[in-house]
Amino acid sequence: MKFATKAIHAGQEPDPTTGAVMTPIYQTSTYWQESPGKHKGYAYARGKNPTRTALENCLAALENAAHGLCFSSGMGATDAVFRLLLPGDEVITGNDLYGGTYRMFTKIFEPIGIKFHFIDLSDPNNIKNYINSNTKLIWIETPTNPTMQIVDIEACADIAKANSLLLAVDNTFASPYLQNPIDLGANIVMHSVTKYLGGHSDVVMGALITNDSELYTKLAFINNSCGATPGPQDCFLVLRGIKTLHLRMKAHCENGEKIAHYLKQHPAIEKVYWPGFTDHPNHAIAKKQMRGFGGMISIVLKGADLEKTFRIASAFHIFTLAESLGGVESLINHPATMTHASIPKPEREKAGVVDNLLRISIGVEDIEDLLADLEKALSA
Ligand SMILES: *Cc1c(COP(=O)(O)O)cnc(C)c1O
Repeated sequence: MKFATKAIHAGQEPDPTTGAVMTPIYQTSTYWQESPGKHKGYAYARGKNPTRTALENCLAALENAAHGLCFSSGMGATDAVFRLLLPGDEVITGNDLYGGTYRMFTKIFEPIGIKFHFIDLSDPNNIKNYINSNTKLIWIETPTNPTMQIVDIEACADIAKANSLLLAVDNTFASPYLQNPIDLGANIVMHSVTKYLGGHSDVVMGALITNDSELYTKLAFINNSCGATPGPQDCFLVLRGIKTLHLRMKAHCENGEKIAHYLKQHPAIEKVYWPGFTDHPNHAIAKKQMRGFGGMISIVLKGADLEKTFRIASAFHIFTLAESLGGVESLINHPATMTHASIPKPEREKAGVVDNLLRISIGVEDIEDLLADLEKALSA
């Protein structure tokens, strides 16, 4: 099946009890057992729920993989991956991560003895300098957040494989429509489903996807044992959101491209981060591993201090000043004080998250309205 067909149908059969075409919201915590232990595959809803099962199968199909698991948030999904590790284990990861991921690594897992190497992944060969007998996992994010750097997934997968390491990829920014890391050799894909997959800024959810049955069994055990599982209503909303993922992503990419080019020539702007520019340092890799460049753009305002940056960030009417991304509506965010505030300033600035950087999630509104709103705000 092709992507659009999977987005609409994968994992979703007419309901066996009533024929309902849309997967029902199974709002139940427990299930009837004919005799102890004899049930229809569902015993207690922390472990499994049919609405969630449909979504998990749909997500797996979109990533061309066998198994999906849903979590109550993207961070819950990430947490489950690190519960595979033990004190003394080492992880190699990028130096330009989602703020919450960085916070979890340094504040939750480092104190219990897991060691992290935050390195420049623009050349994956750097990874080799940090591998030792304790190394277990490589965790990458691409495109990175917010400076839109591209990490070569296939090159990382080759290094992981040659050294018997796991490669996990945070695929949130690209979505499965633009990029499928498992096809490129990754072992685990993580999604903040909250973003493009949900697509309507009304659900917080995470997912892990893998093709490896043994890994799936371990992660499913953690999912049920630790309990960060989502409710059926949220699963229903995401199933519904995914039905238009291909349509939304196409529109995000189209608007994103037009806005990136508009911003690039704007006199108030010093720098535009968008992987679609031919002079982007990793443009060739982006072209190789992605089917489009998405709707995420970051800009550095020319000569703006914090006060001017705030004034511009607050001057929009259609773009909403808010954290998050990937919804149908356009959002603008100030990473240094919002999404990336949990990263210490020196670390943050090393990764390019300066005080005059703004991150924009381009929605699917009319392009002329978006351009007019940008023009007005940038002259504020
Ligand atoms: C939002 C986000 C997360 C965290 O996901 P939640 O659903 O908010 O817990 C992780 N990685 C990236 C790239 C994100 O944008």
